Formats: sequence, C-alpha cells, structure tokens
Amino acid sequence: MARIAPRPMLNYYQTVNLHTAAAQVAHTSIFVIYTGGTIGMDYDENAQHLAPFHFSEIVDKVPELKRFDFELTVLSLPKLIDSSDIKIHHWLNLARIIYDFYNDYDAFVILHGTDTMAYSASALSYLLKNLAKPIIFTGAQLPIGVPRTDARENFITALEIASAKKDGRAIVPEVCIFFDQFLLRGNRARKVESENFTAFESENYEPLAVAGIHIDYRPNLILPAPIGAFDFYSKMDNNVALLKIFPGMPKRYVRHFFAMPGLRGVVVETFGSGNTPTDDWFMGAVREAIEAGVIVYNVSQCNGGSVVHGMYESSKKLQEIGVVSGRDITPEAAMTKLMFLLGNEPDPHVIRRNLGESLRGEMT
Ligand code: ASP
Repeated sequence: MARIAPRPMLNYYQTVNLHTAAAQVAHTSIFVIYTGGTIGMDYDENAQHLAPFHFSEIVDKVPELKRFDFELTVLSLPKLIDSSDIKIHHWLNLARIIYDFYNDYDAFVILHGTDTMAYSASALSYLLKNLAKPIIFTGAQLPIGVPRTDARENFITALEIASAKKDGRAIVPEVCIFFDQFLLRGNRARKVESENFTAFESENYEPLAVAGIHIDYRPNLILPAPIGAFDFYSKMDNNVALLKIFPGMPKRYVRHFFAMPGLRGVVVETFGSGNTPTDDWFMGAVREAIEAGVIVYNVSQCNGGSVVHGMYESSKKLQEIGVVSGRDITPEAAMTKLMFLLGNEPDPHVIRRNLGESLRGEMT
C-alpha cells in the first residue's frame, strides 16, 4: 500500500500546555485532541444555550487535572464539530496530527462526540500502522459544564489509561474507546445508548479493561505492541454504500442502489448469520454488481454473533457469487475498513483477502 510522504506542518497546530503537578521533566506526556461533541459544551449565559468552551480552560472545569503527574498538552481542532458532521478528511487529519506528534508524546486522548465515535475509532485503527502507543477516544452523554456530567470521569479515566505503563511500555498500545466503566477496542465498539451513561458496547469482544476502584486490565485481550516502525495512511475512498436488508425490500430500490455512479464497495447488513432474500432478482443484482467490479461485504444486523456463509441457503448463494464474509465485524468497522482498503490497495484480490481477515483485531 502506498501513502503520500508527510510534509512538516507543525506550525499549523495551536497547542496549549496545561499546568499539572508534573515535574519539570514528567515521566509521561499525553497529547489531548479536542474535536467537539457534547463533552466540551458549557452553558453560555449570554447566548442562553450550550456552546463549546475554550479547552485551555479545562483545568477550571476539571481541577483534578492539577494533581496528575503527567504532562498534558491540548490541541483543539480549529473548527469544533458535532460528530455527526464527521467526514473522511477529519479522520485523515487526526491520523496526520498523531503522526506529527507521535514521537513527542507517550499517549493520545481524543475527545469526540459519541454519535460517530465508533466509526472514527475504527477508521483510526486502520489508518495508523504499527501503533505502539495508546490512542483513547472518549466523550460524554452530558456536557462537562452540567452538574451530573459523565465527562469528568470519562476524561480523567481515559487519561489514566493512556498513561498506564508496565515495565516502561504502554499497557494498551491500541485505538480504544473508554466510556463509563469500559475500555473497548475501538473497532469492536458500537454506540448502543443515547441516554444511559453506558453508551458503548462490544458484544463480540470483551472489554480490554474495566474501571472500578481499580482499573482492571486484561492483558490477554490487548493487542501486542508491533515490531515495525510507526506510520500512517493518508487516503480513504468513500465510493461505498450501505445496503440494510429488510423484509419486503422493493426490487427497484435495490436496482437503484447498485446503479450509483462510481460505486466500488458495498456493506450489506444482513439478517442473523448473514442471510438475505433468495429471490433471483436480488441475487442477480448482487451478482451483476460483483461482476462489474463492486466489492460486496456481508455484515450481520445482529450486535452479537457472526456471519457464517453456507449455514443457510441464502448465504451459501451469496458466497457462491463472490460476497465476502465479514464474520463478526461491526458495521462501523466494516464500512471504514472498506473505505481504507479501497483508498490504499489497488489490487481487488488483496482487498477481498484483507476484508476476510483481521487487520487490527476488528474480527475474530
Ligand atoms: N451529537 C453529539 C456528537 O456526537 C453527541 C455527543 O457528543 O455525544 O457530537
């Protein structure tokens, strides 16, 4: 896979060093990237609504930060966004920022809206190659400026996890989501709640750590630190689409769907263990798309369990016409994986092979 050579552009970023209890030369340094979302909101008395606050004031909102003995640097993106506005260029930008600051910091915490956090964490997991440092996404259900907020706990615990080391090495050298009590592998997580504080789950992979009185890490579930040099990819391709199967789906809808100009990849969200209608017109539409070069990736609508091609007649047919099984991958991880592979790998055979195997622990 190829990537564009990085250009030095560090001056572009505006960072703020926060005053913590760290000694002049702290043992651990953490780089926080604030992208927007509910977590960084406070009540604006003048405007009389919630608005993002300036993150350099975070120490006033979370005075506990002063007691930490690691060095904290914060970068606020120039344009803060509700994460439902996230686009590929935001992911590429985040990968680029991490690359540029990678050697200067021990770990990264990304503050992000919850709505698309699972997509962003998945995307970053593919875009960062040979990652040996923690990248912890977190956010909140309630703004940091309201009394019952979960933002403070989530942020503080995410920082603790990011700084955790054993024998001088990061305990969790991978892209994760920390939320409420659970540290989840980023590309295994899904947002499952819009109200409760436990907003994320990972049905097919146990939490990497659980935060109670102590943070209980599960080393056997955590990816080992890689051997090669850290690098990043700078491309993704969004000529992709998601077809969620439903009973009674009209033929013309499916025809229209596959007729999208420039379509290169489709995630089909299927029933149960990977099943779709067996009608000839449906299988025919999928077959024609595959023959025209479209890559079709089968992912289940169920949160838990796996696509098993061949278990029923319909998935046997899908396998025969060249649909790739996503096994137990989440739709978020599947969509971003397709975008990543289409953007970086020219050979369709290699794309199909990579879709069928785990690149970053996203499937079993
Ligand atoms: N809509 C918000 C976002 O995803 C919700 C949140 O932050 O939790 O940015």
